[in-house]
Amino acid sequence: LLIGVPREVFAGEKRVATVPEVVEKLIKLGFRVVVESGAGETASLSDESYRAAGASIAASAAELWSGADIVFKVRAPAEDEVAQMREGMTLVSFIWPAQNPELMQKLAAKKVTVLAIDALPRQLSRAQKMDALTSQAGVAGYRAVVEAANAFGRFFNGQITAAGKVPPARVFIAGAGVAGLAAIGTAAGLGAVVRANDTRAEVADQVKSLGGEFVKVDYEEDGSGGGGYAKVMSEGFQQAQREMYAREAKDADIIITTALIPGKPAPKLITAEMVQSMKPGSVIVDMAAEQGGNCELTVPGEAVVRHGVTIVGYTDLVSRLSRQSSTLYATNLFRLTEELCKTKDGQINVNFDDDAIRGLTVIKDGEVTWPAPAPKLP
Ligand code: NAD
Repeated sequence: LLIGVPREVFAGEKRVATVPEVVEKLIKLGFRVVVESGAGETASLSDESYRAAGASIAASAAELWSGADIVFKVRAPAEDEVAQMREGMTLVSFIWPAQNPELMQKLAAKKVTVLAIDALPRQLSRAQKMDALTSQAGVAGYRAVVEAANAFGRFFNGQITAAGKVPPARVFIAGAGVAGLAAIGTAAGLGAVVRANDTRAEVADQVKSLGGEFVKVDYEEDGSGGGGYAKVMSEGFQQAQREMYAREAKDADIIITTALIPGKPAPKLITAEMVQSMKPGSVIVDMAAEQGGNCELTVPGEAVVRHGVTIVGYTDLVSRLSRQSSTLYATNLFRLTEELCKTKDGQINVNFDDDAIRGLTVIKDGEVTWPAPAPKLP
């Protein structure tokens, strides 16, 4: 079969769904690969590099969509892309079916098969190698620290030099999921003193193992909701948490917030008052900006200065590291392709007896198969 990789059309999206290293591996699995001309440009990947890896280059999106049997994408397809899909083809992409019911209907009407990488049952350990939410959140967490360091006027690490003693930067991380943990490891690696909080007490050990100190809210309530995700906390907990965050904000040089609750707006954890209490020159990176922000003063997509504090609300952190995020995403899709093509003959089998495959198949031959039944855990 022919795997096609178009240029992403979503504004500001700089990732691409495959990279030359992975093209070679797909070809070894028996597939042919076609890449739209310019698809890798924003990730520093030339047409020539794809060609050298064995891909052919399609001159236009129309040529790509008309030939491919399977299309790999990053962003959910735009209307114009859906219009070009042909009956029987397979799409692998982020889809977010719960948020995009109209798109789901349009895709089903095309009688295609759709594998939504965001619908992968992440709790299956076997699925980890395909988990693009994790790989991309890891990139975003790293980049959040880089953005913070860029906006911060001092070192991260403490130094004793002939010109004087410099204390290490104090970094506070709100939310220690995948992105938060990546941020903890990165900030600690740069030499900062890192403290972190999450409503799910189970992450305390992970925070510690990455070089951070876990700061607990003084209130007996655990935040674990379903599937390893967080829940909305009680009013009493939120009050206690605000008091703790107010103390941390006063001490911190940098705050990175990553707190999300599936299907809900991001919890507001950093109030305007807390921002005001921070030292001038401090930095907040609000990774929840796209979901409404964890800080009251965040402007999504922008970096603003309020009360002398730089508040970074960029919503394109993964695209700001597009070569890395593309490589990891492409590898996740390759791992998925291996599962779909056990026979290594360039054919795919969307096998519903496989819990991971079943979970991410949201449309099969035009029939909506989402949401999948919960996978059987070993
Ligand atoms: P996420 O992006 O939905 O949320 C980020 C973090 O914010 C979470 O840790 C959450 O607990 C925290 N949070 C929510 N509300 C908060 C609040 N009011 N205050 C402080 N923190 C708050 O989560 P994610 O990073 O995608 O990961 C979610 C879970 O999925 C993790 O627990 C992870 O263990 C699990 N996961 C498991 C696997 C696996 O088992 N293979 C793989 C990936 C992720």
